Amino acid sequence: MNIVLFGPPGAGKGTQAVKLAEKFNYIHLSTGDIFRKNIKENTELGQLASSYISKGDLVPDEVTIKMLEDAANENPNANGIIFDGFPRTIAQAKALDSFLQTKRNQKVDKMLSLEVDDNELIKRLLERGITSGRPDDADEGIIRGRIEVYNKNTAPLKNFYMQQGKCVEIMGVGGIDSIFKRLASELA
Ligand code: ADP
Repeated sequence: MNIVLFGPPGAGKGTQAVKLAEKFNYIHLSTGDIFRKNIKENTELGQLASSYISKGDLVPDEVTIKMLEDAANENPNANGIIFDGFPRTIAQAKALDSFLQTKRNQKVDKMLSLEVDDNELIKRLLERGITSGRPDDADEGIIRGRIEVYNKNTAPLKNFYMQQGKCVEIMGVGGIDSIFKRLASELA
């Protein structure tokens, strides 16, 4: 099973992806986590990514796609993969389809889209910024910019998956466990 967990910044993708991966014994691949690990270790990729991430911009597709494929290749026999934070552009979605098709003879099975309104997102991200140490969560201007980037570049992906009948909208507001139950019931 290849699952795309989708939603705007602050929708709860990371939190829920970890829980879903554990319950279903899937691999969790988060492009944001991989970038942050590289930033922490000050790799070349980290330095490049950081120049985009700190401003709230997307890292260029070419870099992101290559990184994601490398991470997927480290897990050739995964029971399933939860993609968290990827794809974020149509080009990334097409690259993912072609990767899964040519390298694994697989496809994206489902896209679960967490629905949360903008005011709630901004509140959550500012709260996370207090403890996360993430520079992209510390400033309301950058947070609003990320939501704009999401609306412009990433939100159109919903249509991409909807046209294939793969998109399921999940209400992303409420307790972590109740949202988890809604998500898990789609994978059971
Ligand atoms: P959030 O979902 O809270 O925005 P992430 O941890 O998923 O946080 O991503 C943090 C940042 O990493 C993004 O704002 C973006 O700059 C970069 N990033 C993550 N995934 C991608 C991607 N698929 N394509 C381009 N940039 C990405």
